[in-house]
Amino acid sequence: MTDTGPIRPAQYRDGTPVPFITAWSKEEIPAQELVKVHRPWTTFLGLRDETEVERQFGVSWMRMPATRGGRPQHGHIHALRQRQAMNRMLCQLCGGPTVGTRKDEWALFLAAGADGHPLLNGERTESPPVHAACARLAVEHCPPLRHRGWTAALVRHTPVWGVTGHVYDPLTLDRLPGAPQHRDGMHRVPFTDTPRLRWTLAARLVITLEGVVPVTDLDALADEETEAIRARSEAGD
Ligand SMILES: [Zn+2]
Repeated sequence: MTDTGPIRPAQYRDGTPVPFITAWSKEEIPAQELVKVHRPWTTFLGLRDETEVERQFGVSWMRMPATRGGRPQHGHIHALRQRQAMNRMLCQLCGGPTVGTRKDEWALFLAAGADGHPLLNGERTESPPVHAACARLAVEHCPPLRHRGWTAALVRHTPVWGVTGHVYDPLTLDRLPGAPQHRDGMHRVPFTDTPRLRWTLAARLVITLEGVVPVTDLDALADEETEAIRARSEAGD
């Protein structure tokens, strides 16, 4: 068997694994060609010559190249890969599927925690799930997790909540100042806030974590994961 299964080999740079969702220096965000889209009952923000995949959940998504060239920009999230990872429950570190890597349907989430506060039920996140083996690798090697500590939880449900993105003035299409808590000039906009969503260019998909059970023993989870993947592969799944 040469099949590596759902856990993909992590990409390394200078001895550090580069997460699947991290943006690279050659993936520079181009100027976005924004237009007003007029429909019989509404007007909303769109991209010039927008394709079907550039519009999802009733909102347009930031254009950026996906080449993974140059150097990793740690701390910068690639809009398309983040959305893919959230949509398909791909591991944020290796990019492989997390569905089917446990005996149950729960998913593992990992977060850097300055104060070690646990992931809470009902918490919103833009950080996609992670394999247990990849979480273990990340806490060993990724500087923010090593230095600031981390917190992990198994999560039962992950409904989509909204997006993080830039919000534009409906008249001038000027970008509005970001929310104070977002250093990158963005806003978090829930799908229920249609008036604001119409003038948002989305960069990240945000989900809610429901049914959250904190976990600390990543080794035990990784063993369970290995077992579940083996059982599935033996069952010919
Ligand atoms: Zn992984």
